[in-house]
Amino acid sequence: MKPDSPPSSHADFLKILSDLQSYLQMEKEEGVTSLPVSPALVEALRRPSFSPAQARPIPSPSPKVSSPTAESLQSIAQVIAACTRCPLHATRTQTVPGQGNPTPEIVFIGEGPGAEEDRQGLPFVGAAGQLLTKMIAAMGFSRDHVFIANIVKCRPPENRVPTPEEAAACLPFLHQQLALLKPKVIVTLGATALKYLLGLENAAITKIRGTWQDYRGIPVMPTYHPAYLLRNPSSKREAWNDLKAVLARLGRPPPNPH
Ligand code: SF4
Repeated sequence: MKPDSPPSSHADFLKILSDLQSYLQMEKEEGVTSLPVSPALVEALRRPSFSPAQARPIPSPSPKVSSPTAESLQSIAQVIAACTRCPLHATRTQTVPGQGNPTPEIVFIGEGPGAEEDRQGLPFVGAAGQLLTKMIAAMGFSRDHVFIANIVKCRPPENRVPTPEEAAACLPFLHQQLALLKPKVIVTLGATALKYLLGLENAAITKIRGTWQDYRGIPVMPTYHPAYLLRNPSSKREAWNDLKAVLARLGRPPPNPH
């Protein structure tokens, strides 16, 4: 396809949209807040060359208006904020209940908040979180389209793995959240999320990743934790294969074939 020619197919159009989304996300992460747009481009965008009827629905961004589900999630977050069920409450700066769309197609579940997450009260906002954001963008979504949560809602000191007692104390919150969110797919990030969510005690993440599991009727795709991928970049291809399997399960083509 020539650079200036109109999209020749729906797949081309989706690819352009996805590439543009990834590019804008990277620019935003670099601190860019505006971009020059020519009058010709504005005019072209006003007259799309494909029929909207051909378009597959792009997932809705997070609703700005409150919904019963959003209000219920907020109520859970308020209970979490006051929680002292396990010793992690004593060392936290603030709780990290989770963040994202109240009606997501995908929920990502990690282990627990790190230092930056503890400081901001938001999940996956440190270095590993930036990689997760890029993985989500590569799938054609944004963080506003999905929901991101952890097994425990308070930071374990020194980023240690949560104990079974801490996980058991906190898991009811995650079960409540998932019952409200009703995602089509859950992606677990790393061995700890898999172990505590599904009770797979001795599962080696290198063996079980990429194989579909089940959580109360919801398909679960285990993959690597982004922190592991930062230390082992050669495993990114396997993680991408796992995310492509998720897209296939959702009936979506991979927007950025690797
Ligand atoms: S980790 Fe979970 S159970 Fe423990 S204090 Fe925090 S919110 Fe409560």
